[in-house]
Amino acid sequence: MPPHVVLAHAAYSTTPSTEQELQAIAAPSNAAPRVLLHSCCAPCSGAMIHEMSRLSLNISIFFYNPNIHPRREYEIRKEENKRFAEKLGIPFVDCDYDSKAWFERAAGMEYDAERGSRCTMCFDMRMERTALHAKENGFNVIATTNATSRWKDARQVDDSGVRAAAKYEGLEYWKADWQTNRMTLLKYQISAGERFYKQEYCGCSYSLRDSNKWREANGIGKIKIGGEEAGMGDRYFTNPEVDAEEESQEVVDEFFSSANEVATADDKEEREKLWNLYKERKKQQQAAGAEDDGLAAVNNW
Ligand code: SF4
Repeated sequence: MPPHVVLAHAAYSTTPSTEQELQAIAAPSNAAPRVLLHSCCAPCSGAMIHEMSRLSLNISIFFYNPNIHPRREYEIRKEENKRFAEKLGIPFVDCDYDSKAWFERAAGMEYDAERGSRCTMCFDMRMERTALHAKENGFNVIATTNATSRWKDARQVDDSGVRAAAKYEGLEYWKADWQTNRMTLLKYQISAGERFYKQEYCGCSYSLRDSNKWREANGIGKIKIGGEEAGMGDRYFTNPEVDAEEESQEVVDEFFSSANEVATADDKEEREKLWNLYKERKKQQQAAGAEDDGLAAVNNW
């Protein structure tokens, strides 16, 4: 990685403290790491690139995300990630948008809960392609920005990475705790500094559908794709503290405890019934003056 990458990110370094030093990410175990970083979007890549820069690693970004739907959202996320990589002088590999293959693999899992088997397939598919590209192009370490979001189950993401890397001798999946408070704040400092587009759902058409259902049940406007206005809140990242708070462990846990109650229902009809029940319950809570803390969780990616 060129030295100017370190300089470009120096402004984002959080004030050193004992806790932060303890939370610093350790380098991969490979003695001469050449890292292929699978990236899902610019906001999730910022803090990881910063850490890799701190460790003076040689990295390339691999953009392979056939899950993202619709195409317009895919192009927005990709172009932003590409611009960011170009600004830092990091090689960017733009891989296929084989969404047809993704939908084929997701068949029968359309109504699975987020963090369920559809997500395992989605991580597997992306990490398998990342590992293949790594092996064919001389990389010996792979990592993914999916591991940095608290909206994802880190163990589920890591398991896919480990499975994919295990297919090729000498290829390491870099497992680290990318979801610490320090990394989360750093991610949003960089996102605000770069004024990244604030996406409002994980990526696939099913997460778009379910996030909109959840919003409807909570009286929040629908997700907006592209444009200068978001469905709720700002279109672009501007406030690191507020954004980091939206991804606090408490907010994420609250979202999944309520959303999964609905999403784990066996069939579509039952899910619809549960959504309506949930909506009614929310209305009653609001009428009774209960605090609606669920409104804070708007960016489940
Ligand atoms: S919710 Fe996210 S991780 Fe899960 S299948 Fe959809 S895009 Fe993939």
